[in-house]
Amino acid sequence: MPIYEFRCCRCGRVFEALRSVDQGPDGLSCPDCGAGQLEQIWSTFAAGGSAGGDAAAGSCPSGGG
Ligand SMILES: [Zn+2]
Repeated sequence: MPIYEFRCCRCGRVFEALRSVDQGPDGLSCPDCGAGQLEQIWSTFAAGGSAGGDAAAGSCPSGGG
């Protein structure tokens, strides 16, 4: 099973999880805050090691609480 990266929409925590190809973040929870709102990260262009980065496109809903 491949390892996918997920980012928490709540606290921004990034973690890896073993998921099937068909499976998404469904059923996963943030190991930090426990939020279930996660977005899958498709890091393919990632290069170097610069911290930060808000320009990354995500599926997290903006606004609201
Ligand atoms: Zn979180």
